Amino acid sequence: MSDCIFCRIASGEIPATIVARTPEAVAFRDLNPQAPVHVLVIPAKHYGGLDDMVGEEGAKHLAAVTSLAVQVARQEGLSDDGYRVVFNSGANGGQSVYHLHAHVLGGRKMSWPPG
Ligand code: 5GP
Ligand code: ZN
Repeated sequence: MSDCIFCRIASGEIPATIVARTPEAVAFRDLNPQAPVHVLVIPAKHYGGLDDMVGEEGAKHLAAVTSLAVQVARQEGLSDDGYRVVFNSGANGGQSVYHLHAHVLGGRKMSWPPG
C-alpha cells in the first residue's frame, strides 16, 4: 500500500533505523521512543492490525513478527532483565498507524496497569 507509512519503511522508500529483517518481517527503531529500547516489528506484507491476523496466512505472518520481536529483544540485550511486547489494536487500544506492529520496549522497569 503506497499510502501506508510502514509499507514504505518496509520497502526502503522512507528511511528508518532497521535493526533486523527476515523475508517476512522488519524491525526498526520507533521515531518517538517510550523506553531506552523501543523497536517496532512489522510484517513486510500489509495487514491493518491484529484483528486482520486470521487464518493460516495471518497466523504465519503474526508468528514471523513475534519471532523477530524475540530475536530483537535478544540482540538488544533485553532478555535477562525482561521486556514488554505490545500490540495496540484499534482506537481504544491506542493504535495510530494501521499497519500491524509489535512494540518491543525495554531497558527500564515497566509499570502496570497501562494508561
Ligand atoms: P501505535 O500508536 O499505532 O501503536 O504506534 C505507532 C508508532 O509508530 C508510534 O510509537 C510512533 O512513534 C511510531 N511512528 C510513527 N511514524 C513513524 C515513522 O515514520 N517512523 C518510525 N520509525 N516510527 C514511527
Ligand atoms: Zn502497510
